[in-house]
Amino acid sequence: MMAHALLGASSAHRWLHCTKSARLEEQFPDTTSDAAKEGTLAHTLAEAKVRNYFHKADFSKRKLNGLIKKLREDASWQDEMDGYTDEYLDYIKEAALAFGSEPSVMLEKRVDYSVYAPEGFGTADCILLGGGTLHIIDFKYGKGVCVSAEENPQLSLYALGAHETYKILYPIKDIKMSIVQPRLDNISEWGCSLQELLGWGEYVQARAALAWKGEGEYLPGEETCRFCRARSQCRARSDYNVKQAFDIGELPPLITPEEAGERLKALEDVVKYQKDLQAWALSECLAGNKVPGWKAVEGRSVREWTDQEGAFKKLKENDIDEAVLYEKKPLTLAQVEKVVGKKEFAEIAGGYVTKPPGKPALAKESDKRPAITNKMIAEEAFKEDDRT
Ligand code: SF4
Repeated sequence: MMAHALLGASSAHRWLHCTKSARLEEQFPDTTSDAAKEGTLAHTLAEAKVRNYFHKADFSKRKLNGLIKKLREDASWQDEMDGYTDEYLDYIKEAALAFGSEPSVMLEKRVDYSVYAPEGFGTADCILLGGGTLHIIDFKYGKGVCVSAEENPQLSLYALGAHETYKILYPIKDIKMSIVQPRLDNISEWGCSLQELLGWGEYVQARAALAWKGEGEYLPGEETCRFCRARSQCRARSDYNVKQAFDIGELPPLITPEEAGERLKALEDVVKYQKDLQAWALSECLAGNKVPGWKAVEGRSVREWTDQEGAFKKLKENDIDEAVLYEKKPLTLAQVEKVVGKKEFAEIAGGYVTKPPGKPALAKESDKRPAITNKMIAEEAFKEDDRT
């Protein structure tokens, strides 16, 4: 059995769009990052807590504590995992209460969606089933990008797989999907009817058939290419970005706001692509391979103590005042929250925390945050008038 399906659920947003990516990625190793290790550890803890809550007979408190003790010894452990996984458990408890009667709770369930995508399977973090509703809940420990549950292909594939498995035992009418991403304070929820899900399944079948055979098209894009293993060397992405960066045709003296909007969109992936290409070229040069015009060199380095304790002792012996050698500074708000724990922090110090408006930033129109301007709104203008 393969560890990962070629048409995996977590990469579905990629192969559904850029159907040729699945076969192209095959030739690149599936490396794991520190963030992925952290994520795996947090998932193990999250699953154990939920299992202990819903399936105490199989997974007692003693077993849970034993496991936590072991997890704490892992190099990727962080104390804040405890609070974040509690948030996941709390969400599932509430979601289960929303069912008219107690739902069946399946954890880390392998779901087979091979009816839709050849050899397709994945592991759903949590499935709640009952009263005609199938609820897929996914725990995300990442804090890079906020993930939305709306029409999320990964969760939708899990839902298709779960429906295939349980449709005989449980009549399903409604589908719910949730993403719990506590490090970004993101809880995203979405729902559709079974008919809508199955309709999407037909689209999946057609795209997956192409992806499986390595047919269809390359469709580069910022989102699509972000985690593709071929992203540094893929010619389609390379050509696309070079085109965006240089192929701008005749230059008028001034660009219009419409053109600026279009170009910002077109250039989105260029900088990221350049970074990916630089990282790949560096690894090639370090491996002794040639990338014409480029070489690996030693980067800038910063001086460091060989023995800081010894150096400070010597400085003090030479009449350097200890006070000038140390600075006392408070931890940042986020650091304090991390050491105290999210819940306790909110209870003790929450009243001292405020969130000023963020620095204006450019975002796509589709962004959920409301648009802001520097223009005074009418109400504010009248307030101003009142004062004068
Ligand atoms: S890098 Fe982008 S365009 Fe190339 S195969 Fe991967 S997803 Fe497709």
